[in-house]
Amino acid sequence: MKTGSINVTSENIFPVIKKFLYSDHEIFLRELVSNAVDATQKLKTLARAGEYQGSTDGLKVSVSIDPEAGTLTVSDNGIGMTAEEIDKYINQIAFSGATEFLEKYKNDGASIIGHFGLGFYSAFMVAKKVEIVSKSYKDAPATRWSCEGNTEFTMDDAERTENGTDIILWLDDENKANFSLKSTIEGLLKKYCKYLPVPVVFGKKTEWKDGKEVDTDEDNQINEVSPLWTRQPSDLKDEDYLNFYHDLYPMAPDPLFWIHLNVDYPFNLTGVLYFPKIENNEFRRDRIQLYCNQVFVTDQVEGVVPEFMMLLHGVIDSPDIPLNVSRSYLQSDQNVKKISGYITKKVADRLLEIFNEDRQKYEEKWDDLKIFIQYGMLSEDKFYDKAINFALIKNTEGNYYTAEEYRKLVEGNQTDKDGQLCYLYTDDKVAQYSYIEAARQKGYDVIETGGQLDTPWMNQQEQKQEKCHFSRIDADTLNNLIKKADQKKVEFSEGERRANNTLFQSQIPDTCGADGKKVEWTVDFQAMEENDKPVMVSQNEWMRRMKEMNHLQGGGMSFYGQMPDQYTLIVNTEAPTVKKIFDAAKSALNAELSPLATEISDKEAQIKPLEEEKYKAKAGEFPQDKDSLLDSLRKDVEGLKAKEKEAVGKYAVTDVTLRQLIDLALLEGGMLRGEALAKFIKRSQELL
Ligand code: ADP
Repeated sequence: MKTGSINVTSENIFPVIKKFLYSDHEIFLRELVSNAVDATQKLKTLARAGEYQGSTDGLKVSVSIDPEAGTLTVSDNGIGMTAEEIDKYINQIAFSGATEFLEKYKNDGASIIGHFGLGFYSAFMVAKKVEIVSKSYKDAPATRWSCEGNTEFTMDDAERTENGTDIILWLDDENKANFSLKSTIEGLLKKYCKYLPVPVVFGKKTEWKDGKEVDTDEDNQINEVSPLWTRQPSDLKDEDYLNFYHDLYPMAPDPLFWIHLNVDYPFNLTGVLYFPKIENNEFRRDRIQLYCNQVFVTDQVEGVVPEFMMLLHGVIDSPDIPLNVSRSYLQSDQNVKKISGYITKKVADRLLEIFNEDRQKYEEKWDDLKIFIQYGMLSEDKFYDKAINFALIKNTEGNYYTAEEYRKLVEGNQTDKDGQLCYLYTDDKVAQYSYIEAARQKGYDVIETGGQLDTPWMNQQEQKQEKCHFSRIDADTLNNLIKKADQKKVEFSEGERRANNTLFQSQIPDTCGADGKKVEWTVDFQAMEENDKPVMVSQNEWMRRMKEMNHLQGGGMSFYGQMPDQYTLIVNTEAPTVKKIFDAAKSALNAELSPLATEISDKEAQIKPLEEEKYKAKAGEFPQDKDSLLDSLRKDVEGLKAKEKEAVGKYAVTDVTLRQLIDLALLEGGMLRGEALAKFIKRSQELL
């Protein structure tokens, strides 16, 4: 028997190991099973090299528990270790490796959780005593090594005739209950070992007999030794990809597409990425799983795949991703950057391929695919450059176009007199129906948007393409959205403008926007064609988009989030009905309004020079008497205007045509609701 003391370079690290990865104790199992798998793989390598003559059939790893004794054993029939090797690999190398590792990451625990590195000694996170019984494939006696969680160990001969290793853990009091549970261990093996390349067996399969669950003769094998991503794409059918997907994510609907990754230079990487189908606008939380030689490492793949691909599902396996380092390091690692760049390129190339090969199938999936592509275009320039060739635009007729095709389709008719191309869009085909119809009548095409990322995507297109802008179909009159020629000017005197403005403004009922807040209205007079709509509702494009962007970024309390929705009531001064309204108002109000208007313009004529003088005067040098005069004139004008407003308001209520016209415009714009709608209906009934 040999006793010894583990090569201590710093203070005793065992207490540190115990505490260190407190929240992640479970990884000990992954580490031990990985070592056991390595041991069997090494035997295969030796056999291939002719250095091992025995059979390599039936290589496997077995995990077993004995709840009464409080032990957990990981056994393999792999390469095994001689006493010298245990001394070297366990007492010296493994130990110093663990020490170094802990030294390095003492203050960075969280970042390495779930990553590799601690190896064999992680057993001491859960065990008060660990025993190794090992017999090398070489002709040497078996050895038993034992250590009780301190720096002392013992080594002795053991009885074992077959090559391989048993690692026996005596679970400590804190961990005994949990890690001697069958369900815990089975769950962990399924999590970390589901796709290991050597069979991992945990007891026997069970069956129900006479009302009891009993063991059968069949091994309870946890893993699938050659998972899909390790096989050749040419050997696989669609069905295989779908089955594997459902194996990974049992509850998810069928994915849209998948991409089989396979590269061995300049780094090793295999995997399969799926574009999931999104239901009810919700992303499932299923994530891409990262493997290292078929050992599950983590599903936190930030840095390894570009941000937008975090929405994808599937598996990436690479021995070249440094796993025992912190995330910030991962992001700056050159190899990892290359991997991320490669994945981006590969995904883009594959999408282009599908698009070219079967455009119809691609178009059918576009509505679901759109969010990924737009996200990618918005977040990765390199992806944008490729995706612009297969990102589609859908119009209200359900046809799909690439950006280039669409530009060609509309540029003849939708370019304004200044050479600006106007893309018209609708985000609600039903609500904006009559606006869409009006555009169609002019021969304009309307894009259908309404996706979560359409607004930022349009912003991006406006920046990338020259001389173009997107306008929602109700952002203004079509004549203004696509100005073909200079429009006729509205010719009102100041007094007329004020009166007509009040006329319409005073009859707009209270309306609420999408956020339930009261909206603000302005009235805009435009001299359109005689047979254009008399009155219509519009919402400023820029303001609305700002609010949408704000909403997208989760704002609400910010500047734009606080602003009320702003709408415009556009009045066509050339429409016969509108003209009639103006004329009737004029004859009814003229007697009352014209002296008021004269008085206002007289006083305003006095105010103007005084204001100029005051503006030019140095501080404190504008005479007191003039200042009071200015003040009182302004008050007079205010009072006169109020009188004017009152008179117009009083009259306006009596003009039923005016009120009907406004309400109809609101109704068309989807703004007439609640009390305003009830009043409108009542008034209409009375008219009938
Ligand atoms: P690592 O696996 O990262 O090298 P470990 O601490 O897990 O570090 O193991 C140290 C060494 O001990 C391994 O490299 C291997 O040579 C040896 N070893 C561990 N477990 C086994 C096993 N089950 N069979 C054979 N050798 C093993």
